[in-house]
Amino acid sequence: MHKWQLEKLARVLVKTGVNIQPGETLVLQTDTTAIDLAREITKEAFAAGAADVEAFINDAEIDHLKALNCTPEKLKELPEWKKESIDSILRTGKGVQMGVRASRPSINADVPDANLKAQAFAGNELRNVVRNYIHQGTLKWTGTVYPSMEWAKKVFPEFDDETAYQKLEDAICKMMRVDEDSDPVENWKKHCEELSVRSKKLNDLNFKSLHITSELGTDITMDLVENHIWCSAGEMGAQNVNAPYVANMPTEEVFTDPDFRSVNGIAYASFPLFINGKLVTDFSITFKDGKAIDCAASSNVEFLKEALFRDETTRCLGEVALVSKKSPIKQMGRVFYNGLIDENAACHLAFGASFPDCVKNGTAMSKEELLEIGVNFSVSHNDFMIGTDDIKVVGITHDGQEVTVMEHGDFVI
Ligand code: ZN
Repeated sequence: MHKWQLEKLARVLVKTGVNIQPGETLVLQTDTTAIDLAREITKEAFAAGAADVEAFINDAEIDHLKALNCTPEKLKELPEWKKESIDSILRTGKGVQMGVRASRPSINADVPDANLKAQAFAGNELRNVVRNYIHQGTLKWTGTVYPSMEWAKKVFPEFDDETAYQKLEDAICKMMRVDEDSDPVENWKKHCEELSVRSKKLNDLNFKSLHITSELGTDITMDLVENHIWCSAGEMGAQNVNAPYVANMPTEEVFTDPDFRSVNGIAYASFPLFINGKLVTDFSITFKDGKAIDCAASSNVEFLKEALFRDETTRCLGEVALVSKKSPIKQMGRVFYNGLIDENAACHLAFGASFPDCVKNGTAMSKEELLEIGVNFSVSHNDFMIGTDDIKVVGITHDGQEVTVMEHGDFVI
């Protein structure tokens, strides 16, 4: 990457992403592939007044060797000190968290399934340390991506290595609203305001339920949680933190909590998805009275099953998110094989945990109170894309009126 690209990415991640304030400590979880950006972020964080930057740096090659050579039992263990190293910073209330990951979509192709699943299990346990604070609404956090050569070749297979890599760099900068002649922080301010207009419209409509259909075969209904809030990057951090922040960069979605007990019908995935390290393709999930009861896929269905049917909470929905086909990411016309990017190219659902901050006063409510109104609690959260160019979303109001929200893949409200 060019120096100016690294500098601008770092600036927008620090200023807009976690919006670090003087005296705070940045917990930076990253890997060696993204080290150039990690260093720039560290510089920028200190310039913004950070008290400290603690970088937790993995290496994909070393993790691959561990996945090949350790037993599944060993891989599944997450030592207490690893959790504690992050938790001890976050529980002071002075920590902010940023994840910068370079996708390596094929690095684990030779790892046995049992080892992959075990490694993914431990990774999820570690994420739950951070997720715990996210659910309390007390943490400013953001996650982003960084290019790798292997990833670039997967997304742009028709080009030579160098061109593919550059195309991925450019695509990432573009979706991060980083270009040569404008200030990305200003660009994001504008973008967040636009997303807020959309979430406000949906909040004013205060739907009781949604009905989503597409020509792929999706036909699914769900109630929304009572007092739900449609959130977007424009609303993040209104609750229990000292400054607005943007979780997930890029982001193009407006999202809320479905009542996890009310989901019925079938959802067909419109993008392939890596689940616990394996690519699951052409899949569908059938729900009855809130619970996933069946699923199918043209490859690696057992990885989908393992994630979906892990327990009674992972088989229920935790998120519904609307994204227009006019999203700049969708307009790039590529599958990125990366959840963070692809979920911002299409409407999506997630099975597993809901977001308490998508409910009015949700972060002040107890787990029991939230469960009572249909907010799902779970050990994982797996987004999957259902958006197509013909997707239709109809909202049903409390007095029974039907309002078309999206038609032919785009918003009509
Ligand atoms: Zn989402």
